[in-house]
This record gives sequence, structure tokens and C-alpha cells, in this order.
Amino acid sequence: MGTVDQRLDGAALKVVDAFDLDDELRTLLRPGDMVKDEQQRRHRLPRYFYEVPSHEAAMSIRVTPHFALNEFILVDLKEAPRLQQWPRYIPCAVRVLAFFLEQFRAGAGASVHIAVNGGYRSPGHKMSEKTASPHMWGTAADIYRIGTTILKTSEAIDKYNEIAEDLSEDVRVLPYGHVTGANADDHVHLDLGYITLIPREISEDRMEMPQENRPRFAFEERRQRKDRRQPVEHPGE
Ligand SMILES: [Zn+2]
Repeated sequence: MGTVDQRLDGAALKVVDAFDLDDELRTLLRPGDMVKDEQQRRHRLPRYFYEVPSHEAAMSIRVTPHFALNEFILVDLKEAPRLQQWPRYIPCAVRVLAFFLEQFRAGAGASVHIAVNGGYRSPGHKMSEKTASPHMWGTAADIYRIGTTILKTSEAIDKYNEIAEDLSEDVRVLPYGHVTGANADDHVHLDLGYITLIPREISEDRMEMPQENRPRFAFEERRQRKDRRQPVEHPGE
């Protein structure tokens, strides 16, 4: 039980409507913009993000028992400089991805390691330039290592791709191969498609207008629920 209790300790994550952010951030995150995928299908970019205040918070906040928030925002210079400064932003759908990764970890029977640039990539990230990819929705992960296995061979990648695909019809993987975008030869790519998540803290009655500038925090409800679950003493029993 310890793990479950710790993961939200001190972690009231602010939920932001990206339309409320400053011009530079809005331009980089492009909330609500349409982008085309390789098949020319159009997908709407996410609007609601978690605001991650600091590196320490990213390290300590667990989205699920085995995945800390920082694992989804590891990037290098390919990401826009402003988006490497704190606070940082990650689409709220990352918690759905983390849930699936947790199942994937159980299926693989070993720890799952996301590569640098293998989690969330903003529309301003250099790897996002050509076409829409679920990485821009926070719903894709590139995994380079599972337990002690570095994923470089078709044998290893095929094996873990199969475990990922068996989780759900919603999971897509890239087959082993050497065509960037269509295949992967040094990681397992798994994604859930173009999921956008509207957190329950958000009111949708003003979909086209920015939300009022009232801070909203995720997980508050859950913490209260946990408080209610504290053992109740029954001295008479
Ligand atoms: Zn990928």
C-alpha cells in the first residue's frame, strides 16, 4: 500500500487551459490546432495540460506506482527552449498512457524505460515537424530498455510489441524495421492514438473561450477520498 499512498504525496498538480498561457507558450503548444497525420487525417491538438512546477516535483510525482512524471518529459535540445524551462507542461492524457504502461510493465515482468524524447513532444519539437504523432498528445512512449534488455534486435522488439498489442485493441506499436516513422529498430513505440483528456476539474461550458483564471488542481478529490478511507476506530468492537 505504501507505493499507492506515496505517489500523490504533496502532489497537487495544477491543471491549465493552454489558451490561458502566455503568447509564447500558446504558440508552441498550439492548443486546439489541427495537424495532419501521414494519411492526411486531421487531429486536434490537446488543450488541457498539467503544469509541472519543478524538476523535484517531476521526479517525485508518480502518475502510476512505477512511472514518475519526469519520465514523460525527458527531452534534449530538439525540444523548444522555452518548453525546457520550468514550469513545464504535459497533456493531461499522459495519465491514460501511464495506466497502459503500468499494464505493459506487468506483462513484460520487468521495469520499462522511456527514451529521451520518447514521451511527450510538443508541436515545436524537431521530431514533430513533419506530421502529427501521438507523442504530441502525450499518448505515446518510445521504450529503449526493458529490465536489462536494450531493445535493438528484431527478436526483442517483436516480443515486447506482442505484449503491448495484447493489452488492448487501442494499443498500436511500430513493427521492427528501418523506416523512420513506420518502423522502429532501436525501441518499442507504443501509442494510444489521439486521445485528448478533459480533466474533471475543467468546466466545458466555454469551449471556445479561455477558462476564467482560477487555479484548478488535479488529484485533490482523490486525496480527500483517501482521507475518508483512513481507518475508523470502533472502540466497542
Ligand atoms: Zn514513438
